[in-house]
Amino acid sequence: MSTTKDRVYNSYEMAQAQFDKVADYLELDAATRALLREPLREYAFAVPVHMDDGTSRVFRGFRVQHNDARGPSKGGIRFHPQETMDTVRALAMWMTWKCAVVDIPLGGGKGGVVCDPHNLSMREQEQICRGWVRQVASDVGPFKDVPAPDVMTSPQHMLWMLDEFETIHRNRLPGFITGKPVGMGGSLGRKEATGYGVVFTIREALKELGIRPEDTTASVQGFGNVAQYAIELYTRLGGKVVCVACWDQKDQTSYAYRKLGGIDLAELMGITDRFGGIDQARARALGYEVLPGDDWIDQDVQILIPAALENQINAQTVGRIRPSVRIVAEGANGPTSPEADAALKERGIFLIPDFLANAGGVTCSYFEQVQSNMNFFWGRDEVLAKLDLKMTAAFEAVHEVARAQNLYMRDAAYVIAVDRVAQACRDRGWV
Ligand code: NAD
Repeated sequence: MSTTKDRVYNSYEMAQAQFDKVADYLELDAATRALLREPLREYAFAVPVHMDDGTSRVFRGFRVQHNDARGPSKGGIRFHPQETMDTVRALAMWMTWKCAVVDIPLGGGKGGVVCDPHNLSMREQEQICRGWVRQVASDVGPFKDVPAPDVMTSPQHMLWMLDEFETIHRNRLPGFITGKPVGMGGSLGRKEATGYGVVFTIREALKELGIRPEDTTASVQGFGNVAQYAIELYTRLGGKVVCVACWDQKDQTSYAYRKLGGIDLAELMGITDRFGGIDQARARALGYEVLPGDDWIDQDVQILIPAALENQINAQTVGRIRPSVRIVAEGANGPTSPEADAALKERGIFLIPDFLANAGGVTCSYFEQVQSNMNFFWGRDEVLAKLDLKMTAAFEAVHEVARAQNLYMRDAAYVIAVDRVAQACRDRGWV
């Protein structure tokens, strides 16, 4: 994968190859395959912007609706200089499976704009947000397609988009978009949702394995939003995190911070920047061992939680996983390469696949959409209790298929997701 073009090409190819495998297993007919291996609808358009320096520039925008047989499309909007239609297609397809596996009544979508927000003023970014909405205003909406923040887009971007959408439609339609700030249509519990969701699935996996959380330790890669809330809940369940790894911006490398007696979350958060980077000198002073970044994988623990980047458990690192490890819970998207995945399967490690483990985020976004459509907002405890119910039910359904059909958890999750979407297409009489 030498060039960006290759990488981008591969993500869509990879999504289609994964789908083909499941389609074979489910013996899907030719029409259903043709329908599901490509998006239902794609929009590609120009977003012209008057720049601060008086010139005009035209940015490329995209929206892909992969499948909406189970409900309105749902998925983020990315601002990225290397964004392409193929990346967006792949991500939209993965959103379809993610919504289906947690059984929320939504389909899969994704959007993007080819731009680099680092080099754009807030006013220019606002123009891009409003221009993007103007181009798709009649093809998205609370009951059609609901966008959300993603790479380099924030709650502020979502509010600008909402404002433009409501101005065009001369109405108040807060369910058009999620990831809004709390108090402006956002949901309580969203910031905790992904990390807590990871731990709800770990808790259920431990029950299946007959292991008490208080008899386990964990090592985590990443110390950002997902990792911090996962550590908080796991620790409350009685588990002990002994190692966390994060990126060091100054040294341009990653480090693992270890305390065998258990890390102190509040103490570490007190010395962490807003990008999830831990201050190395202060960590040393607090008694943490500072190890090479990859060492998070090489710990004598029962649980590994990759919650940083893709492709971290790979052919080079998978052999370093200790015999003590019983569960790998994928907080990040795509943290395990296909080669490493085969090795985990072979070793009988209980894998909780990314699109199940980290689905707490989209589930809470669905709750935000529901609350926004009703214009009635729930308390934090209510949101988190509903999240627990959804995540637990999803885990149980996947585990049941894995057990009954003797499948690896990742394959079982795909089988459930694709089967549900295919069934919805058949029920509607599309195929
Ligand atoms: P974040 O930006 O808040 O934190 C990322 C963390 O990863 C930081 O601590 C950073 O230092 C660390 N990191 C970066 N490069 C690293 C490296 N080479 N080695 C070790 N650590 C490194 O991000 P987040 O929101 O916590 O998301 C983490 C992962 O979870 C991503 O894959 C994301 O796509 C996925 N995810 C997030 C959500 C969500 O709701 N936040 C939902 C679903 C999936």
